[in-house]
Amino acid sequence: MVLRRRAETYGVGKIFVLALVFLSSLSIFGQNTPVVTLSVDASEAPRKIFHAQMQIPAKPGTLTLYYPKWIPGEHGPTGTITDLTGLKFSASGKPLRWRRDLLDGYTFHVEVPEGETEVTATLDYASPTSPDPGYSSAMAATEKLYILNWNTLLLYPAGYTTDQLTYSASLRLPAGWKFGTSLHVSGPASNNNDIHFAPVSLTTLVDGPVLTGEFLKAVALTAASEGPPVEIDVAADSAAALDAPPEVWEHYRNLVQQAGILFGAQHYTGYHFLLTLSDHVAHFGLEHHESNDSRVDERALITESGRKRSAGLLPHEYVHSWNGKYRRPADLATPDFEQPMQTDLLWVYEGLTSYLGDMLAARSGGRTPASARDELANMAADLDHRSGRVWRNLQDTADGVPTMQMAPRAWEDYRRPVDYYDEDVLNWLSVDVIIRQQTKGKRSLDDFCKLFYGEPSGPPIVKTYSFDDVLNTLDQVARYDWRAFWTERLTNHGPGAPLGGVEASGWKLVYDEYSSESDRTQDPEERTVDAHYSVGLFFGMDGVIRDTVEGMIAAKSGLGPGMKIIAVNGRRFSPQVWHDAIRAAKTSPAPLELIVENTDYFRIVKLDYHGGEQYPHLVRDGSKPDLLTEIYRAK
Ligand SMILES: [Zn+2]
Repeated sequence: MVLRRRAETYGVGKIFVLALVFLSSLSIFGQNTPVVTLSVDASEAPRKIFHAQMQIPAKPGTLTLYYPKWIPGEHGPTGTITDLTGLKFSASGKPLRWRRDLLDGYTFHVEVPEGETEVTATLDYASPTSPDPGYSSAMAATEKLYILNWNTLLLYPAGYTTDQLTYSASLRLPAGWKFGTSLHVSGPASNNNDIHFAPVSLTTLVDGPVLTGEFLKAVALTAASEGPPVEIDVAADSAAALDAPPEVWEHYRNLVQQAGILFGAQHYTGYHFLLTLSDHVAHFGLEHHESNDSRVDERALITESGRKRSAGLLPHEYVHSWNGKYRRPADLATPDFEQPMQTDLLWVYEGLTSYLGDMLAARSGGRTPASARDELANMAADLDHRSGRVWRNLQDTADGVPTMQMAPRAWEDYRRPVDYYDEDVLNWLSVDVIIRQQTKGKRSLDDFCKLFYGEPSGPPIVKTYSFDDVLNTLDQVARYDWRAFWTERLTNHGPGAPLGGVEASGWKLVYDEYSSESDRTQDPEERTVDAHYSVGLFFGMDGVIRDTVEGMIAAKSGLGPGMKIIAVNGRRFSPQVWHDAIRAAKTSPAPLELIVENTDYFRIVKLDYHGGEQYPHLVRDGSKPDLLTEIYRAK
């Protein structure tokens, strides 16, 4: 058991659960709200099937129940409805009739007979066996671990907000598996494998995933005197993967400290980084008030390249406790999981989180200043070549995300992906630099963070905001026409990326023939070839073209996503053959000659390109003060 409990919480939870034995509803401000009992059996986790049973208070007539659809933090209707199986309802032991809603596949109507006051619902979550399509609806269980998201395992009655519904949950684990979670355990386990959690609102339950596994390690990131306790719980597919060098934990301790200095307050009573190390589960991070569910390669902590690749993830998800969970755009703060979310302010929710996450990765030592600059150079170069900018502005990348975030890799550049993350790193860097310039170095974006996300500290609450609230707070930090600034940044069509912040911070984006260390650690086995900035091509080691950049020479010469490069200058394709040929073309007048396969046909494509390989870097511009290094410096 790795959950660090505080004595007072333990006592309160225990008393609360005893009282609930006699209650099927709670009276909150004079309104009776249901208490649902939820028992989850995860003992078959390696088979990837999970069983849940619920006791739901009900009245005779039609009981309408929802399966969670709009999952907080996922910014879309990503609830895993296709995997909901084994659904059955009964009352007093007799089966009940049910029907799915004809207009919404996440809604179920159950006929409750006269005299019944409670419905028993059972379901099986037959969970995915592949990392697609991603997020919490993708593969989450292996032979050795499982990351449980409660939204996949429950139904909830219509007519209440998720704050009004109380869930008393228990969980059965495979024998010998340990666990970590931000949820509080309500009493001693009835046996080693059953955990009873203190009753919480449905909002809090879904906000409290449980990481469990045979190989699980918990490391404290704060000392007893340092405010709310923070720990990292890491589960891995092997014991060896947990054997990280001490600097890893030191960087995460620094991260907690630096975030505390940046924001000046915490909006949690305790915090758990839940880190899954597996090559099989979907890789992503999902934010919660008091934890984050982050999933990376099995060897991410024990190899140098793995540590570099994953250095930005935990800082990003941790920042979300302040930006996204505590402060949230009003139209993303929905009353339940059925109401659609409006994503227009994700350029603050995600964009600023990306900027602050990268900043804290550097301030905590998780990234060196040089690797932080490499990351920034890559973003800037990618966005500076974004062909989809001509038709789609940055605001629309946020507005359209609920229906577009699962888009395929093919045509990504022309479609425009979720640019409100990376492009807003450039925009918020501009804001940081403008504040420093306007106040002659007296203030920075750190001051905005304290005003917008800071005191008072306390347990999780949601404080919503609008576009105007963001502008007004920026104006309190430094007088500037922020409305005009953001309106232009959100609606412009280029050409090129907004590089003004990078340049004003004392650095210039340049290209040369040498990939950065950061590029090489992203793809140490050369599984992909990034020829974005030379010919406008991105392809795999199999030669299959993942994407092209509209307007660049590869697209103009007839290449497109899905085609396969078979040979380069008469020799069978490999990444090395490609690199050699493009370097040789610098001093040869002859075009590169590719044999390309497309839907069973072969064709010769000539690329008349002689500019050599192009990789982005930031170089110092000595004519300006070096603000970027100051931004990345530990406080
Ligand atoms: Zn995020």
